Amino acid sequence: MNVNDDLGQGGAAASLPRLLLVDDEPRLLSSLYELLRDRDYRLVTAASGSEALVHLDAMRFDLVLLDLRLPDIGGHEIMDVINGRGYDCDVIVMSGEVGIDAAIGALKRGAYDYLRKPYSREELLKTVENALQKRRLAGDNQRIAQRLETSEKMYRYLVDSSPDIIYTLDHEGRFTFVNDRAYQLLGFTREELIGRHYSFVVHDEDLDRARYVFNERRVDERASRNVELRLKCNTAHGAANGERTFTNTLMTISLNAIGMHVPDGSAKKREFFGTYGVARDITDRKRAEEMISYQAYHDILTDLPNRMLFKDRLGLAVIQAKRKLTELAVMFIDLDRFKLVNDTLGHVKGDELLQQAAARLKACLRRGDTLARQGGDEFTIVLPELRDRNDAKAVAEKFLDALQKPFDLDGHVVHISASIGIAVYPGDGETIDELLRHADIAMYQVKALGKNGHSFYHASMLDMSHQKIALEQALRRALENGELEMYYQPQVDVITGRIVGAEGLMRWNHPERGLLSAGEFLPFAEENGLMLPLSDWMLGALCRDLLVWNAAGGDTLRLSLNLSPQYLDRGDFFEKMRGALSRYGISPAQIEVEITENICIRNPQYAIDQLNKLCQLGVSVAIDDFGTGYSSLAYLHRFPIHTIKIDQSFVKEIHDEGGHYPVILAIISIARGLGLHLVAEGVETDAQARYLQANGCTTMQGYLYYRPVSLATFVDVLKARDPLPEQDTLPLALRA
Ligand code: C2E
Ligand code: CA
Ligand code: CA
Repeated sequence: MNVNDDLGQGGAAASLPRLLLVDDEPRLLSSLYELLRDRDYRLVTAASGSEALVHLDAMRFDLVLLDLRLPDIGGHEIMDVINGRGYDCDVIVMSGEVGIDAAIGALKRGAYDYLRKPYSREELLKTVENALQKRRLAGDNQRIAQRLETSEKMYRYLVDSSPDIIYTLDHEGRFTFVNDRAYQLLGFTREELIGRHYSFVVHDEDLDRARYVFNERRVDERASRNVELRLKCNTAHGAANGERTFTNTLMTISLNAIGMHVPDGSAKKREFFGTYGVARDITDRKRAEEMISYQAYHDILTDLPNRMLFKDRLGLAVIQAKRKLTELAVMFIDLDRFKLVNDTLGHVKGDELLQQAAARLKACLRRGDTLARQGGDEFTIVLPELRDRNDAKAVAEKFLDALQKPFDLDGHVVHISASIGIAVYPGDGETIDELLRHADIAMYQVKALGKNGHSFYHASMLDMSHQKIALEQALRRALENGELEMYYQPQVDVITGRIVGAEGLMRWNHPERGLLSAGEFLPFAEENGLMLPLSDWMLGALCRDLLVWNAAGGDTLRLSLNLSPQYLDRGDFFEKMRGALSRYGISPAQIEVEITENICIRNPQYAIDQLNKLCQLGVSVAIDDFGTGYSSLAYLHRFPIHTIKIDQSFVKEIHDEGGHYPVILAIISIARGLGLHLVAEGVETDAQARYLQANGCTTMQGYLYYRPVSLATFVDVLKARDPLPEQDTLPLALRA
């Protein structure tokens, strides 16, 4: 065997055509080899048929130069093996035989050419070169065909597995192609769609827009992009009678369509023949967008339009009214006593109340009216195209009426009312903000005048709302300037006629308005977050004053202080209390805190913990205004309570000492049953005092005995008392 290079090597040599030279005559074989060796071929020689087969088996050849007559295996047989085993090589047969049969036999077996020996050098080289050239061409063709096939497959694959629907339409708008995704998304098979007009799948309301997109003839960047269309989907259900009924569901699709033209050399003469498009399923995104925009413009709790949407609607209504020269009304509704429900029953019930109230208000509206939740317990309404003010008045009365019936919050029956302020365009304001502000001011006016009603805005109200702002600033200043002072209202044991204690009540020496009592400014402070600094101040003031009391011989008297719910809610209340008492060296036993029933209901466990800590310290606890709050007797025995104060509203009812006042009697028997002390508040008449005393309540507080007095006056009162033996000066509560 003779090899002209190392066939095992790669590189440039690896791509050279590989030739197998087969001849049993050594001279002919070597001359053949000599002839071809300087060319760019790689040569292998074989001196017998069997050797040739070994080579063919071992490696791939491009061309075999085959002597037909070989001693062991003949040339024809070798060609049969080549064909039989599918070796990809061409064969040039060389033979000294004259007979045509040998040539035909060789050509039949697929020989590329047949060379008669002796052949000329040129003839051989040319034949070899031709054979190799033909092979190269055939190889190229095959590769191209293969590449075409794979790229066709790839495009098919890409088109069909695209997440989008890809389609073409003919010039009349009929589907000529749809990819597999169309079936997956729309539920129509290719057969159902091909040849159908596109309107078959487009939602009726979107047909006009579709016409524009599907008839797209432009191919440049002006071609339609991202037009949103809803397409009908086909959900087939097998019906009982074997027919198929279809429910059409809709899907939003964004379309990219582009005109298709026959490429025709001359750019001018482009003939339109259809539309190609891609439709993407954006249903989920659409839903998310709708959801987001709904949430941006609606109140989640009540499902009503929110402040933003309301302003939008009001803006439109104002424009309309301006154009049509009509009036419109804006209302501001604030629920009365909502805060109390929220504080006492908790946020969950509070939310439920808001939902129910919103539903009732909504039921009163006419078409075209907008009810919105402004936030908290505030609602706003716009009534467009008002005939006159009476229209608005009627609606407001309807609202108040609707809220009148009790609300059932999971078994808790609650009564609320509302304060409604009304501003009318254009008389009470011409802009959105002005109308809203004035309706708000009118609403506050209703609140100030006792709530549960409605009022139209009036210019004079503006002063009052300014007063409100001024009050807040003034109160903050009052703290800084020391304008606050504690007054004391003695509590009297009517059996002994002695003072047993006193309640501390806050007063404000207002620089212009004179002495203001707590009822005139504390509710305002509660609403505006001023209760904490005021309570801090109160604690200090009480301790300082108590030292003065004690120095004046009042060290056996109990001091009652009012504890704001907001103050108790603060985690550090107890520490502050204990700190103040120890700083001033005051015995906790001399202190009683008054809380309202409401405090016990909002967060009972927390309240119980706080009050227990106070009790352990030695401070006692009284329930103030007993019978007026959301009292729950069930809680009473769980609280560490020492005293019940009968609210003055019940005492006020007593006109006749021989009469029958069941509420008072009930409270007295509750106190007895639980072993609690009783104090009657707001006792103004002898009849009240005698009735209370006759029924077992002997500690009284009220104008009949003392009004709340300044510290100086209180000290005078203490000093004026008859000196008594130690024992008897102990107040009732301390004797127990
Ligand atoms: P309250 O605890 O029920 O206090 C009794 C209120 O009734 C006091 O009003 C008192 O001046 C008034 N009063 C007393 N006797 C009579 C009477 O015979 N007839 C009538 N008509 N009224 C009488 P005031 O001082 O305006 O206090 C109102 C409320 O403000 C108090 O109700 C209490 O809840 C709160 N408050 C007062 N001072 C303080 C304070 O220092 N801190 C806190 N947190 N709240 C206070
Ligand atoms: Ca009180
Ligand atoms: Ca009270």
